[in-house]
Amino acid sequence: MADLVIIGAGPVGSLLALTLAQRGLSVDVYERRPDMRRVDIAAGRSINLAVSTRGLYALNQVGLDADVLREAVPMLGRMTHALDGKLALLPYGRSDREYINSMSRGGLNKLLMTRAEESGRARIHFDKRLVKYADRIASFDDGTRVEAPVIIGADGSASALRKAVSSTVSEDYLTSGYKELTMPPGSGMHREALHIWPRGSFMLIALPNLDGSFTCTLFLAFEGSPSFDELRTAADAQAFGQTYFPDAMPLIPDFADQLMSAPLGRMATVRAWPWSRDSALLIGDAAHAIVPFFGQGMNAGFEDVTLLAKSLSGDWTADFANFAAGRKPDADAIAELAIENFVEMRDKVADPDFLRLREVEHQLQSRIPGRYLTRYQLVTFTRVPYRLALRVGQIQQRILSGVVRGDYDLAAAQILAERELPLELGADVP
Ligand SMILES: Cc1cc2nc3c(=O)[nH]c(=O)nc-3n(C[C@H](O)[C@H](O)[C@H](O)COP(=O)(O)OP(=O)(O)OC[C@H]3O[C@@H](n4cnc5c(N)ncnc54)[C@H](O)[C@@H]3O)c2cc1C
Repeated sequence: MADLVIIGAGPVGSLLALTLAQRGLSVDVYERRPDMRRVDIAAGRSINLAVSTRGLYALNQVGLDADVLREAVPMLGRMTHALDGKLALLPYGRSDREYINSMSRGGLNKLLMTRAEESGRARIHFDKRLVKYADRIASFDDGTRVEAPVIIGADGSASALRKAVSSTVSEDYLTSGYKELTMPPGSGMHREALHIWPRGSFMLIALPNLDGSFTCTLFLAFEGSPSFDELRTAADAQAFGQTYFPDAMPLIPDFADQLMSAPLGRMATVRAWPWSRDSALLIGDAAHAIVPFFGQGMNAGFEDVTLLAKSLSGDWTADFANFAAGRKPDADAIAELAIENFVEMRDKVADPDFLRLREVEHQLQSRIPGRYLTRYQLVTFTRVPYRLALRVGQIQQRILSGVVRGDYDLAAAQILAERELPLELGADVP
């Protein structure tokens, strides 16, 4: 019998298996899907995703950050596309060394599975869907029963293990859904940016792929106007594209057909508690699925792995309970931040007041170099707890709004920032 069982070989389950195997533990992983390295299946929700500091740190701990970065496209900032075609690049970081990385989800998942297996201590069993966990026995859909006194559920937002662990679960679905489209290579779009077409209540975004193509995601309400419900025919889709994304449409030759045939995805925030019961634990999306607008879901799951691995003492029950209690406030904070960022991306990035606020923030930042990190930077380029990033963001918003309203000037804002921002946020935050 292995030291522990992991349910789910998605990015978080595979990284966890590798991390624990490197610590000398033997691990059996059970995955519902076939092996994506042998069978051509979609790797899950989005085709590519953004990996940033928290995720890279976790990958660094298993010696994989350099391999992953080699396969990634850096995104230095947000490139917004106004309706009249005007472009604006808003850099993400304080310098050109701070950027996020666009990565193939499938490529990353496959690499993690392979490295976990190569450790010699992790075995992945495919086509095994957990249907029940009771009395320390994990039961699978093909009738397999496995003794699993220590078990970790990395089985995603619809986790089956969660039924045996959490007594309260809430799933808050957004009233918007998403569809993915491919923009083939040769579009001429700036490659090292995350492109956004903000249109108020909806938006299109595009992340670059290594081959020069972009994966575009349309986020739009299910119902109302405009909405997915209104796009009933290819002609509707064509007219919608021409009206709202006139510069992107010609770069996606079969825009209307792609839009009609792409599956419609839903997005939810899942809050569950407790995350652990005896020596069973939930991790990653199984514990805390969030909406994708901060690009942090997987990064947060990878950070779970880092934190859990750091706190292992051999007493699984105590370790799991401690990890859960320490991490939950941060999971709640990033869930809130992710929802707020939806509004910022689809609406505010095109709003003059928002741009003025960012301008003031930029000036304040250069007055107190290293002492003022934006909320985005704290979330994306540091490993400070998410709850701290949330709190700091609220303080900053209050100070910046005062300047924009004309209540006080930049010098006064600097004094306020120096007084109110937590001292630990100096230049060398983790
Ligand atoms: C449109 C979109 C864009 C996103 N972009 C980003 C981004 O840019 N950056 C970022 O960090 N995050 C992003 N995310 C979030 C990210 O996809 C998730 O946070 C991440 O996939 C969670 O990983 P996981 O391993 O916990 O769960 P999952 O990726 O869901 O993997 C769970 C695994 O468990 C398996 N499984 C499920 N049920 C069972 C069962 N009963 N028995 C056995 N196996 C089972 C599944 O087959 C799967 O392999 C995005 C999400 C969406 C929807």
